Amino acid sequence: MSETATTDTHCPYCALQCGMGLRRTEGAVPVEVVERPGFPVNLGALCGKGSNAAAVLAPGARLTTPLVRVDGELRPAGWGEALDRIATELSATAATHGRDAVGVFGGGGLTNEKAYLLGKFARVVLGTSTIDYNGRFCMSSAAAGGIRAFGLDRGLPFPVADIPKAGCVILVGGNPAETMPPFVRYLRELQDNGGTLIVVDPRRTRTAELADLHLAPRPGTDLALALGLLHLVVADGRTDEAFIAERTTGWPETRAAAMAHWPEHVEAVTGVPLPQLREAAEMFCAAETAMVLTARGPEQQSKGTDTVSAWINLCLATGNAGRPYAGYGCLTGQGNGQGGREHGQKADQLPGYRKLDDPAARAHVAAVWGVHPDSLPGPGPSAYELLDSLGTKVRSLLLMGSNPVVSAPRSTHITERLRSLDFLAVCDVVLSETAALADVVLPVTQWAEETGTLTNLEGRVILRRKAVDAPPGVRSDLEVLHGLAGRLGHGEGFDTDAEKVFEELRRASSGGPADYAGISYRRIVEQDGVFWPCPDGDHPGTPRLFLDRFATPDGRARFTPVQHRPAAEEPDAEYPVRLTTGRVLAQYQSGAQTRRVEALNSAAPGAFVELHPQLAERLGVADGDRVAVVSRRGRTVTPARLTTAIRPDTVFMPFHWPGEANANVHTNPALDPTSRMPEFKVCAVRLEAVAAA
Ligand code: SF4
Repeated sequence: MSETATTDTHCPYCALQCGMGLRRTEGAVPVEVVERPGFPVNLGALCGKGSNAAAVLAPGARLTTPLVRVDGELRPAGWGEALDRIATELSATAATHGRDAVGVFGGGGLTNEKAYLLGKFARVVLGTSTIDYNGRFCMSSAAAGGIRAFGLDRGLPFPVADIPKAGCVILVGGNPAETMPPFVRYLRELQDNGGTLIVVDPRRTRTAELADLHLAPRPGTDLALALGLLHLVVADGRTDEAFIAERTTGWPETRAAAMAHWPEHVEAVTGVPLPQLREAAEMFCAAETAMVLTARGPEQQSKGTDTVSAWINLCLATGNAGRPYAGYGCLTGQGNGQGGREHGQKADQLPGYRKLDDPAARAHVAAVWGVHPDSLPGPGPSAYELLDSLGTKVRSLLLMGSNPVVSAPRSTHITERLRSLDFLAVCDVVLSETAALADVVLPVTQWAEETGTLTNLEGRVILRRKAVDAPPGVRSDLEVLHGLAGRLGHGEGFDTDAEKVFEELRRASSGGPADYAGISYRRIVEQDGVFWPCPDGDHPGTPRLFLDRFATPDGRARFTPVQHRPAAEEPDAEYPVRLTTGRVLAQYQSGAQTRRVEALNSAAPGAFVELHPQLAERLGVADGDRVAVVSRRGRTVTPARLTTAIRPDTVFMPFHWPGEANANVHTNPALDPTSRMPEFKVCAVRLEAVAAA
């Protein structure tokens, strides 16, 4: 590569996976981000996170040597010593406590190749069923709802470019104006084309400001809202009976469930005035085609799967599925939130979105891996259950691409569980709050220093390409798995070359729901990404799913009758306020990378608690005052930020910061019974003014 060469690649952060170029520089930061206008999803646009992404490549910002804990201190070590220590400790745990006492925890930001090889490492080398990943905390309810209705989970069953061609979009619990700003152009185009945008959010966010109609329900009542809208649609005779008859099953039971939710009752439960409910139903039904897009707001609830089903039911009842410019979709959050949930790092899953308890799936994947199907362990615990069992059932943990000290619900408890482990190994780019607890920390390559595929929120498989060499002392996650597998008796089958791993992934996914068999690195580059399923080299890929049939045995979409139920923790006299959490424009997830970028940190330097002036007045709190938020799980102290853009009965905290500012100190690990998603989006707290020091 010449000194001025620019490499086409993608952003390291969210699921939009914006295309960008990286141009070599002579400075301390070895590349600079430049526009890549030809990539069709973002057409050159980037948010501040993406345009400042190169800063984390600077030598001072990241780890460049393995660290091994000696006499209580993390000290620099060689790779041989570090890998030997991990292999020895994992083996000792398995020998003493059994294979399932060795846990593996992955991440939704890992490339497809890493997620695939991590799952294979757990099942083949460690022989443990104890593997899950932080994507369980992001999209699992949407995935479960999608599979329940359509027989298949792909976040968006259509390209983002279809969104402006819908007549109406209801966006439930998502704030792309801050989380993925380049996506907003599709919402603006929708409106420019005469379509309408309805945003459902307890806060008047920057996205809600754009809407033609903003509905602000109490946190945790999105399910009731969807039922109320369906009730109105039925009562007004606006259902699509031909579509229901030809392409769905289960309507009578779902219709009955919706009719039990009277709009007046829904108004009382949600706090959304009845005229607004009627207006939303009218806007949705008046459109020739309509979409519902959900994000973490309705999904991160202890009834998240049923909530997603309620919104899908609204789509199906109005014929808005299985045809162009209509349907239900989920706005995936993490960079590889889609691909990361397809290739085997989930507790119940084998590559290609195959099920671990399916004998045919086990036989297929075992053949690719060269092992006997009976040697593969069964399904294991979900992410929160895994973390909650650390130090008791699970005694040693290998963690890759996650920072649960900041990002897990009930984070103080999970931090204690991590501290109670016999052994913790962490692979990360930086010394995250979780890595700081580890016995061994391995410094690994990051996005611009390695090649690999990711699958964006549309189901488009894209290629992130290496633009620059990693500093000496840094190795890739694939090299880590290769090194550990070799030490644990598996010298073959763990390639360090990403493209070779992808070739194996193609074979392992062949014939599965997420079929990548026909996708190659070459095709990805030539086609600006390939949409799965793509079963062979002559197949063009599948930008739009379900046009002819749904992925159910009979080809019909399935209605699911659901009932509203309260959040696991409703406000009471002791904890009278609802807390909801989310992201801000300049930070990403646990902030492990973005908090190290000066431009982002100065834009968003710390946490805060957002509250309505009416609530602030009752508490005697002024804007900027320090406020304690107290829940059954802990106490945080942050500055108050007063705004009329939030309901007076609700407060909001962003979740990017650790310590006494960590919003996840409070979040409730009550789990959805189907997806095992914790209830991040609503819990009960009280606020206390903190006297100035
Ligand atoms: S929207 Fe997402 S993918 Fe695009 S630049 Fe921002 S963080 Fe990166």
